This record gives sequence, C-alpha cells and structure tokens, in this order.
Amino acid sequence: MTAIVWIRRSLREHDNTALVKASEEHEEVIPFYVVDDNYFSNATLGYPRVSFWHDSLKELKENLSGQQGKDLVVRKGKPIEQLQKIVEETGADAVYHNKDYTPYARERDEKVAEKLDVPVNKFKDVVMFEEKEILTNSGTSYKVYTYFSKKWFKKEKRRPQEVEDYTTPDIDSDEIPSLKELGFEKPDDMEVWEGGRENGLDRIEEFKDKIWNYDENRDYAWKDSTSKLSPHLRFGTVSIREVFWEAERIKARNPDSDTSGIKTWQEELAWRDFYMQVLYNWPETAEKPFLEQYEDIEWRSKEEAEEDWEAFINGKTGYPFVDAGMRQLKRTGWMHNRLRMVVTSFACKDLWLDWKDLHEYFKKMFVDAEKASMIGGIQWAYSIGTDAQPYFRVFNPYSQSEDYDPDGEYIKNWVPELEDVPDEHIHRPHKMNQIQQENYGIEIGEDYPRPIVNHDEKRKEAIEKFEEVRED
Ligand SMILES: Cc1cc2nc3c(=O)[nH]c(=O)nc-3n(C[C@H](O)[C@H](O)[C@H](O)COP(=O)(O)OP(=O)(O)OC[C@H]3O[C@@H](n4cnc5c(N)ncnc54)[C@H](O)[C@@H]3O)c2cc1C
Repeated sequence: MTAIVWIRRSLREHDNTALVKASEEHEEVIPFYVVDDNYFSNATLGYPRVSFWHDSLKELKENLSGQQGKDLVVRKGKPIEQLQKIVEETGADAVYHNKDYTPYARERDEKVAEKLDVPVNKFKDVVMFEEKEILTNSGTSYKVYTYFSKKWFKKEKRRPQEVEDYTTPDIDSDEIPSLKELGFEKPDDMEVWEGGRENGLDRIEEFKDKIWNYDENRDYAWKDSTSKLSPHLRFGTVSIREVFWEAERIKARNPDSDTSGIKTWQEELAWRDFYMQVLYNWPETAEKPFLEQYEDIEWRSKEEAEEDWEAFINGKTGYPFVDAGMRQLKRTGWMHNRLRMVVTSFACKDLWLDWKDLHEYFKKMFVDAEKASMIGGIQWAYSIGTDAQPYFRVFNPYSQSEDYDPDGEYIKNWVPELEDVPDEHIHRPHKMNQIQQENYGIEIGEDYPRPIVNHDEKRKEAIEKFEEVRED
C-alpha cells in the first residue's frame, strides 16, 4: 500500500502531520512536491520569499534523499495533472496533505480532491487551532483577539510527532529548477535571509535567551529581540507545535522564574492562529475590508499618488522612522513588527494610499509574506479590519520614533545619511537650522528629504474622511 504525501508549505519531515499520518498507515510513502511554473510567473512573488523557499525545498530534498530508502519526489507542472500522473504511475491508494486556509489554496484543494480517483486525506498542521475550533459561547467565530486568545491558551495542544519508518519507492524525480530558471535573480543590493530547517532550528536556539525579556524588548527594533521565525513558520521548516512546546519546556525548566516574556511571545502565536481563522471564516477579507462600512472609501491608487508612493516605498518620505522601516524591507525582505504598524499607518492616515496596493507590494517584498497575517495587520492599521485600531487613533511617526528608537540606532542603521545627526534632531532632522546642518554634514532637502506631508494636517484630514464615510 502506497501513499502520496503532497507537500506544499510544510517543508520538513519532523512533525509534518500529513507525513506522520501517512507513515502510520502505509509502509511505502512518497513525499511529493510539485513545482508549479505558473506560480512563479506571478508578478507579486519577490526574490526574498522565493529564495527562502528554494533553500528550504533543496534542504528537504537533501535531507530525505540522504536517509536510507527515502526521497522527495519533485515534478514540474500543474499540481492536479502531476498528482493524477503519480497516482497512476505508482498505484498509490491515497493522497495525504496538510491544509492551507487561503481562498486560493482551498479552491485548488477542493478541485484536486474532486478529480483524483483515490481518497484525499487533509490535516491541520500549520496552525495550533483551525477553522471553527475556537468559537464564542454562542457558537460564532471570533472577531476580537483578546477573547479568542483566552480560549486558545486554555485549550489542550497537541505535541510534535515523529514520523514512523517508511520507504519511498525508487521513482523518477525532476531536478529542483534553479532560481534563474524560474526567472529570479538576486538584486545586487539585497541581503536575503537563508531558508531551511537547520537555520530555523538555529533561530529557535538563539531565541532561547531572548524569550525571557521578549515582553520588555520586542517593540524596540534596534534591540533585535524577536525570534525572526516568521518565514520559518510560513514555509513550515519548523512547526508551530515545536516552537510552542519549546517555549513551554523553557518555562518548565525554570519553575521559579518570571515567565511573562514567554507568555507574551506565545500570544503572538495565538495572533497568527487568530488571523488564520479570520481569513478562513471571512475569506472575502482577502479582497475587501472586514468592516463593510469602509468598502467605498476612495483611496489613492499608487498611480494617482505616484510621487508619494515612490517616496514611500524607497524610504524617502522625510520621516526617518518610516524611511528606516521601508529601507529595511527593501534591503532584507523583512521588517520589524513595530515598523510594520508604523509604516502601514503612515501609508493610510498620512498618504491615503490604497491598502490593496500596499498589500501587493508587501506580498512581493516580505520573506514571510503570509496572506492571513498580512491582511490582518494591514486592515488593523488601516482601521478597517477585525479588532482594528480605531480610525481616530492615528500613529504619530515622530512619537513612535522617540518612544521606540530614542537614540536613533535603528534609524541610523538604515538611513546612513543621518548617521552624524545627534539624538536630539534624529527624529525631526528637517528642524535643524542651516548651521546645524552644516555642522553635521547634511543638507536637508538635498541629502535627505524634507517631510513629504505635514503629519498633523494629514491626521485631521484622515479622521474627517473616515467620519464622512461613517455618516453616509
Ligand atoms: C502590516 C503588517 C503586515 C504583516 N505581515 C505579516 C506577514 O506577511 N507574515 C507574518 O508572518 N507576519 C506578518 N505580520 C505580523 C508580524 O509583524 C510578524 O509576524 C513579525 O514581525 C515576525 O517577526 P518575528 O518572527 O521575529 O516575530 P516574533 O515577535 O518572534 O513572533 C513569533 C511569531 O508569531 C507570529 N506573529 C507575531 N506577531 C504577529 C502578528 N501581529 N500577527 C500574526 N502573527 C504574528 C509570527 O509567526 C512570528 O514569527 C504583519 C504585521 C503587520 C502590522
């Protein structure tokens, strides 16, 4: 009896639920990956994410083929056609895969299940709790994180599982195409993150010391105090259960210590589940605001707001904290969470940019681009989502910078023009007079831009626009 395990975003063997289940029920198991060429012609796929995926897939193939009698069988083409082909070729009697919750993946998986002549078994793997597992007392899905997370913490959680012994029959596998063959080339000035499970496990190890003070440090981008596990969770090089239980183990080993940092970190994992269940239960939020009353807001498209858009994505708005965040993203494909909130709020309340254009750009740029968390985060900052930031509470890019980067360390790292500007001017360099600018070797308006908008005015305008829409 042979099972095909169709691997998509869980790029690991350990605690890969579909693989574990298949190995419990079959002696012959074929871990199977389809490289869908069409997917790679998608304009919103950027280098950081594709490169991370490529590293991770290659490492998984090496890992499996390096074990006696195992392999990852790779084929190029359309998933449904390649699955039909391999089922026929091997006489497999079942297909196993982990579930994915985006509207696109759900539709694809339904079609595959309809077309295949063998049973398709689907498993929860990428989240701790899925779909409708956590409901309000009246049986509806949660729109508010706080109550969701209370139940999330109380609910019993599965531990990581090992695969049983299995062998992979000797069948042809295609080579994994190179990034070049897939049409991607590393931009010269980009420092991308390396993918792969080994790297993910290293990240977990490195984070073990930081987790204790996560609650105090996480908002300060320059402290490098978060786990940086997001792309690993995105591509499943490590599992959600592994990271959750690792944190529990740290707690258990130190029973007398203050574990609030660990709890705060685990709350982030609950946010991830929260947004996955929002996207599952309200799939329309992939295209529309969760709060329907804001559907008709007329945002400025990136074409209409071309100058502002270009200044924004290139980190040249004249707001140092915003610019530092956008430049970190452009250079590395990742941005600290505090900055993700600040720049998104700026795109909305200060520049009135269309959230869908921002979503496309983030999708292309982020190494950890994950539909549910991204839509959730953007709609939160735009005040149009579940449990959103209220429209009248507008992030002030200056005070955010003063509070979370008081000495301008993060700013200076990403905006080198401001390297010699002293702390008292780093948040508002345009306020320096001529002599100060000369002293610090910078000409505002020439070496670094003046603010492209006036925050106080834009804040008022944004609140008025929201109020107009609410009254209609
Ligand atoms: C506008 C915006 C867009 C975002 N887009 C994404 C995205 O595409 N992919 C993504 O994984 N996260 C996204 N986030 C959430 C968050 O910014 C990142 O998960 C986090 O910065 C990743 O860094 P880390 O791994 O060091 O996180 P840590 O602080 O170490 O947190 C641990 C893990 O918890 C999860 N997590 C943390 N914060 C959140 C959150 N607010 N919502 C959901 N999950 C969270 C992530 O999986 C993260 O790896 C977005 C947030 C905002 C405001």
